[in-house]
Amino acid sequence: MSIISNYNIDNNTIVRVKEKSKSFEVVIPKTMREQTLIACHDDVGHMDAKKTLHNLKQRYWWPNMRKDCKVYVRSCHKCQVVTHRTANAYGLLQQFPIPITPWEIVSADHVICLPHTKSRKHQHACPH
Ligand SMILES: [Zn+2]
Repeated sequence: MSIISNYNIDNNTIVRVKEKSKSFEVVIPKTMREQTLIACHDDVGHMDAKKTLHNLKQRYWWPNMRKDCKVYVRSCHKCQVVTHRTANAYGLLQQFPIPITPWEIVSADHVICLPHTKSRKHQHACPH
């Protein structure tokens, strides 16, 4: 089986036949790749590279499409200036339960990069 046999011309469009599913992907020429990325990224809500690639793979194909998609999404100006969380919102701070006996709960804060003492042998520590 040659590589050429996986491609067809349908209505002046080159299509790539997916062997497993027997479905088709439209082969996008270089001149139309940016327009296709806009349609699958900008026009559908600026999704991340993984979801944009998923959108592309539904119908389209070109060599190095995954890499082009990553580069396009990473350089998208709107995605860079608008930060949107995709995770759940942060919860409210919760108080620890009040201990009944001494030393029932011990906690410590770790602080680094404190200034050195004059002898430079030790770093300052601030008890609280
Ligand atoms: Zn974007």
